[in-house]
Amino acid sequence: MSDRFISITDTVRAAIQEHALQARPSECCGLLSGANGLITDIHPLHNDADKPETRYFATPEELFAAMRRIREAGQALLGVYHSHPRTQAYPSASDVEMAFYPEAFYFIISLEPQVELRAFKIEDSRIEDVRVSVTNI
Ligand SMILES: [Zn+2]
Repeated sequence: MSDRFISITDTVRAAIQEHALQARPSECCGLLSGANGLITDIHPLHNDADKPETRYFATPEELFAAMRRIREAGQALLGVYHSHPRTQAYPSASDVEMAFYPEAFYFIISLEPQVELRAFKIEDSRIEDVRVSVTNI
């Protein structure tokens, strides 16, 4: 078991789930930010992928705008999230291929068979499980 873990507020966790439900049957995606290992803010992005049911892709314009908001808030990019409407919360081959931020935690929320939020570190094609701690502040 990994000793890595990341904290996320219950409000952000709920917002990820809400975004995933709204985007269904497409995948949703976005960025997560905060400070000191606690995610406090969510930045939903449009999924601009050709096959949004099984992939996610955000335009550079939207990504840079979100990055700027995060910087201006004095926060750090802590996570990248997307949903798996019909498959388990585990990185797909294309997720691993498209993991461009080795310093970020990759969150995947699965909607079926049950709602489940998991996080991973993806570095050099290696997938490492990360424990997610949900806080109530
Ligand atoms: Zn995926």
